[in-house]
Amino acid sequence: MTVISENKRSRFVDYIYASVLPTCAKGLTILVPRTQLALPDNAILLTFDDGPSAHVTPRLLRVLSDANISACFCVVGTHVQALPDITRQIVAEGHVIANHGYCHRLALFHGSQTLSRDIDECDAILAKVLNQPDYRSLVYRPPGGWLLPHVNALIKVPAMQIAPITYFPMDHRYGPEQAQIVFDRCYERLMQERGGSVVFHEAIYGAELLGKHLSCCPSYDRSWLAEGIQKWITRLQQAGLVFLDAKTFFSNTLVRGSKTPLGYALRQSNLFNINQTCHAPW
Ligand SMILES: [Zn+2]
Repeated sequence: MTVISENKRSRFVDYIYASVLPTCAKGLTILVPRTQLALPDNAILLTFDDGPSAHVTPRLLRVLSDANISACFCVVGTHVQALPDITRQIVAEGHVIANHGYCHRLALFHGSQTLSRDIDECDAILAKVLNQPDYRSLVYRPPGGWLLPHVNALIKVPAMQIAPITYFPMDHRYGPEQAQIVFDRCYERLMQERGGSVVFHEAIYGAELLGKHLSCCPSYDRSWLAEGIQKWITRLQQAGLVFLDAKTFFSNTLVRGSKTPLGYALRQSNLFNINQTCHAPW
């Protein structure tokens, strides 16, 4: 009974995030309508936020390796600092790393200088951990997904781009007991929209600390993610959907030199072509 009412309530919130918000906040979030992201039909880009996580990432990497899927990991600098070996493993296994800020600072509450420092500090720790002194992130996912005008001005190198999503399954709000709701909704949406770009959370920045003190914050428990993703991947593949190689996606969608938010640049230029030759410096 609890699950049913939670499902109804979450569907309403989901509708707000998936349909109302992208329309009302057009260009102000990384959430773009599926029709405006030039992905091939039945193709999925898989992204993960707020990691790495000591408990989740290794299991997740095993699942992705078994399924031969390359994803985009949007990492937080403080977590990278705490887990350098896991960060290196993400890269070694062929996934894309996106900068998600050193301290996950939200554009809603911080100005350009603070956000710029957040990006720089995340890049600095990635440079150290990856042993690449000149490392600059080519992909940025603004914490909280806010793509406000001052965020767009923060693009650090001409090729740096924003990691978009077309569907937000709201997984950050759920613990293990409601995990199936998240996967079912996400499956339905991807089937309905014939693919898209989705995000799951390996960790919830700050929630681990809160979760220890607040019983109303069950979502800090991400123990369900890896196994759930495994079943969800299989289900989607059996239904005929394919997972895009994240490196190919970002290589082919590069809008070099453009300061236009990715979703809109893609709509205007229709640059995405899965067979296009890649020249990205991975
Ligand atoms: Zn985040």
